[in-house]
Amino acid sequence: MVDLVFDAPIAKKKAPIHLADLTVAERKERAEELGLPAFRANQLAVHFFTHHNDDVESFTDIPKELRTSLADAFLPKLLTLVKSVTCDGGKTRKDLWRLHDGVLVESVLMRYTDRTTVCISSQAGCGMGCPFCATGQAGLTRNLSAGEITAQVVMAARVCDLGEMPGGPTRLSNVVFMGMGEPMANYKAVMQSIRNITNPQPDGLGIGARSVTLSTVGLVSGIEKLTQEDLPVTLAISLHTPDDELRNTLVPVNSRWQVKEVLAAADKYEMKTGRRYSIEYALIRDINDQAWRADLLGRLLKNRNAHVNLIPLNPTPGSKWTASRREDEAAFVEILEGYSVAVTVRDTRGREIDGACGQLAAAEVSGNS
Ligand code: SAH
Ligand code: SF4
Repeated sequence: MVDLVFDAPIAKKKAPIHLADLTVAERKERAEELGLPAFRANQLAVHFFTHHNDDVESFTDIPKELRTSLADAFLPKLLTLVKSVTCDGGKTRKDLWRLHDGVLVESVLMRYTDRTTVCISSQAGCGMGCPFCATGQAGLTRNLSAGEITAQVVMAARVCDLGEMPGGPTRLSNVVFMGMGEPMANYKAVMQSIRNITNPQPDGLGIGARSVTLSTVGLVSGIEKLTQEDLPVTLAISLHTPDDELRNTLVPVNSRWQVKEVLAAADKYEMKTGRRYSIEYALIRDINDQAWRADLLGRLLKNRNAHVNLIPLNPTPGSKWTASRREDEAAFVEILEGYSVAVTVRDTRGREIDGACGQLAAAEVSGNS
């Protein structure tokens, strides 16, 4: 039995407060507390969220003598790039970041023909203990702050602006919470970061909520809270099998919220937002890829507004599990389609750089590399 960790250890020293940790009203209040006019907070928001720039020395609209105090109050450096690795001819890039207390996290940027997506981390490590996931193996180090989560998106948007990826400058169009961590176990900071991502400029990055995907292992309490928010993001549920018996082992949190309850919560979210949700399903050879499981999944989903994303398992180091055979994968797809369930097989971008789903495990990387 794996111990599930819902309450992350508090960082020894909290991340310094950043503009992105504060609501629009709180930003103004903080400026006034510091004896600065509120419009200065607004100027900083334009630099950070619209121009993706956090280098105060380059802000020519801010008087020189105010720059240091404003930087300290609103734009402390939260992420230091340790290294970047690329593959797919530069169209996939994994960045390793060091946080203020030395903790390491990763984000992955992927450029496709029609969109550019960043996959971000919401926690350093994860306490959910899914045995097929590299992040899960390392356990939970700590929650990220809203600023630390948002900064990963801003840094990715900057890479896009600067044309650092092949194909020239582009716009960051999508954000997926599919990096390290369980977003629903760091609910408050994740919601604040989603507000930063979706708020129109200049208060946020102005990325549409529909272009933001929150992937959860199935924390029903979190899905229910999300349903009450006015944030119609795309919800992805990591189901991985339709039966509770196997799911109890693949996704230990299933012992708390079973398949039926998770799907019922996702249905309520769908009813409230009108948004089709995704079912994530890592296909593991001879474990969850049998025809009868595809059949059971098809029956479960046939009358639901859900879309299945099959992910060929990315084996983690030392894992006894591997991806399904091609023919089993094809049969799985066919059976689901027989139930008129929408299904796609996810591409495996970033595998060579351990940047694909479930491979992120920054703690293994030396902080000085
Ligand atoms: N904790 C959240 C989000 C991060 S994981 C969640 O579990 O949904 C993002 C996705 O990668 C999830 O669907 C997860 O199940 C999947 N994943 C994890 N390890 C994987 C692996 N080794 N191969 C394929 N997918 C994996
Ligand atoms: Fe955590 Fe998601 Fe990995 Fe499970 S699959 S251990 S919830 S990051």
